[in-house]
Order: sequence, then C-alpha cells, then structure tokens
Amino acid sequence: MYTNSIEMVEVSPRDGLQNEKAMVSTADKLALIDRALAAGVRRIEVASFVNPRAVPQMADAEAVCAGLPIRGDVTYIGLVMNARGADRAIATGRIDQLGAVSVSTDTFAMANQGQTSDGSIEAATGIIHAARANGKLGQVTIAAAFGCPFEGEVPEARVLAMAEKLAAAAPVEIALADTIGVANPAHVSRLVTAVRELVAPIPVRVHFHNTRGTGLANVWAAVEAGARTIDASIGGLGGCPFAPGAAGNVSTEDVVYMLERAGVRTGLDLTALISANHWLAEVMERTLPGMVAKAPAFPKQLQEG
Ligand code: ZN
Repeated sequence: MYTNSIEMVEVSPRDGLQNEKAMVSTADKLALIDRALAAGVRRIEVASFVNPRAVPQMADAEAVCAGLPIRGDVTYIGLVMNARGADRAIATGRIDQLGAVSVSTDTFAMANQGQTSDGSIEAATGIIHAARANGKLGQVTIAAAFGCPFEGEVPEARVLAMAEKLAAAAPVEIALADTIGVANPAHVSRLVTAVRELVAPIPVRVHFHNTRGTGLANVWAAVEAGARTIDASIGGLGGCPFAPGAAGNVSTEDVVYMLERAGVRTGLDLTALISANHWLAEVMERTLPGMVAKAPAFPKQLQEG
C-alpha cells in the first residue's frame, strides 16, 4: 500500500495550542497560520468551537476566523462537538470543513464532551449533516481509537463498529486518533487496514501523539497501511485538556523530514517549517518537542531560514 505522496493537515493552531496554560494572542495564532501556509500547508485546523469556559485558549475562535487570509486553495477546519459549535463555525463564514469528534469509550466521552460514546456518534452524525446542509464539508475523528486514558484498552471491534456507523453519515473522511499516544505500529497497521476496508471509498486520516515516543513509527505504519492524510503540529506542540498526561502531537517538521527522505512527497517546505518551529518556540518561551529543528541541517544545502 506504499504511496509516493501524502496530504498533511496542520493542527498546531487548535490541537497544538488548546492545552497551553499561557494564553496565545489572536495575532500570534494568525501569524502561526500564515507561517504554516507559507510552508505549503493547504489544510489546517484553525480553531475549535467549544465552550470557552472549558477550553479558554480557544475563546477567540471567531476572531481567528475573521483574520484568516482569503485563499481559494486552502481548507480551513473548525473542530466542533455539537450543534451549537457547528452553528458558530458556519456563522463565521470562513470555515470550509467541520471536524466532528466521536470518542471510543463512555468515560472519556463524558470527560471530553459530556456525552456517552454512542451519544458522540449521534452528535457527529448531526454535525456532518449540518455541514452538508450549509455547503460545507464534514469529517469525523474517532478519538482514543487506540486506547483510553480512563478505561485502558479499546477493543478494535468497538472502533470498527463506530467507523461503520459514522460512515453511514457520509463524512468526507474518517480519522483515527491516538489521543493519548499509546498506539504501536502493529496496532496502527491492523486498525488502519481494517477501517479502510470497512469504510471505502471514504479515505482514512490518522492523528498521533508522541507521548511515548512511538509517534513517527505509527505515522510510517499508517502510510504503509494506506492512510493518505496525516495530522501533525509544528514543533510537536499539543495535547488534550481532558486526557490526563496527554503530550504533543507528532511534529510536522519531523514527519515531513521522515517522509520526504523516504521519497514520500508532502508538499511542505522543511526549511520553512523549521523556521516556524523556532519562531513558535520564542512565542511559547521554551524549546519545543520536535527534534529535526534542533538538529544540524541534513543534507547540508538545507539551510535554516
Ligand atoms: Zn490530538
């Protein structure tokens, strides 16, 4: 199932920042989005439309949307958990794609969005329908698809049953998210293959966190298993406010380095991503987890920008 090109989705403005305690300004979020677009990103999660009391870092979702560059070639994604969030995202007039979330276990679904797992499937179905009814795209992510912070192991049969129900709503894509970074490449290979077979022709996206150092290995396993789209976050920032111990997403520049060196095109400019990492590290006032941006350029002609 090897491919020679992959689509990257940049999630730093949303998943990357939502868990940060220090508030990042709207202007810095827009500057981050500009840097991602300049590096070649064409699909980007820009905000989440959730209760600002639950996720204060996302309270300026509307302001971020109002400042987005008008680009016909870019898909802006807004994360939404319910009908109210869908209404808000649509009302901005700037969100092209609504990203719904269904959670694999009841305990995490309650913590994350105050619903049972089945309730989160119903909510996602409603969001996908609302997107379509308003001329937008609707996609869905199955969160904690590889393990739950509260219930532990998640049966693959549960994830497959969810994928089947969600596919009935005809989303443009179904994603498998390792929200807490517990997946391993063998698990990824099995689950991506099984979900792809079940939901075809709906494409499968993957979302990994590097909590236990398996992030890049999982990306590679997913690519080999036929996933065509990969979420990543500049600098490897990220985490879920409702998942204890959650750590950063796989870093965009690390994924791009690995894939491009392996002959898989991403459409992104590594030099620009490394420069974005260094800029974001200054904004966050700390070194970020991504590794490629800390290493000497390789090969040599790849100069730091
Ligand atoms: Zn995440």
